Amino acid sequence: MADYGRQRGGDEGTLPLSHLARRKQIFFACNCCRQIWNLIPEQSKIAVEAAEKYADGLISKEEMVTVYNASCRTPIRTARNAAAVSSAWAAAATALWDAPWSAAALTVTHVRRLSNVPELQIFNDLHNPTEYRPTQAVLAYDSCLALRLAQGIYEDRAFDRLPILADALEEAGCVDQNLLDHCRTERHYCGCWALDLILGKK
Ligand SMILES: [Zn+2]
Repeated sequence: MADYGRQRGGDEGTLPLSHLARRKQIFFACNCCRQIWNLIPEQSKIAVEAAEKYADGLISKEEMVTVYNASCRTPIRTARNAAAVSSAWAAAATALWDAPWSAAALTVTHVRRLSNVPELQIFNDLHNPTEYRPTQAVLAYDSCLALRLAQGIYEDRAFDRLPILADALEEAGCVDQNLLDHCRTERHYCGCWALDLILGKK
């Protein structure tokens, strides 16, 4: 499957973040913050973690607003600290702003001030450019084990286990090469399209 960078001849350009559902835009921003996790103050990490929970419906909008408002008041001490605090704040904003993609793009801008962020790699892991959907027949593998594995990977954020999931899916009769090949690629992030597809998330 061609990914976004290859489709554009390797020119990353501006990522079409608005093509992602809000849940994935939130995860895109949070994944970017996770690249500089050790630089983000504990007080600001709460904002990123809350956004991740909000994306999956684990906390209410009111709770998210409370955390977001607190993130707006986080003290800034140095320029470096400002970039880290602002990254977390922008990631939290993806959960609430009417234009979450602008908050997600802002997150990238702030994170970049501290580190290179593999935003294209993250985007391509979350976005399915061909709107690929396996047919029911392809997904008709009979495997409680594979599904349990997939749920465990998602809950533990243990995306390095996706190749193991690919083996389990194959053993269970999944012949979808597109899905299997993606699961066997090296790097995955929260919101990975293949794992989301298996778990029925959007
Ligand atoms: Zn993936």
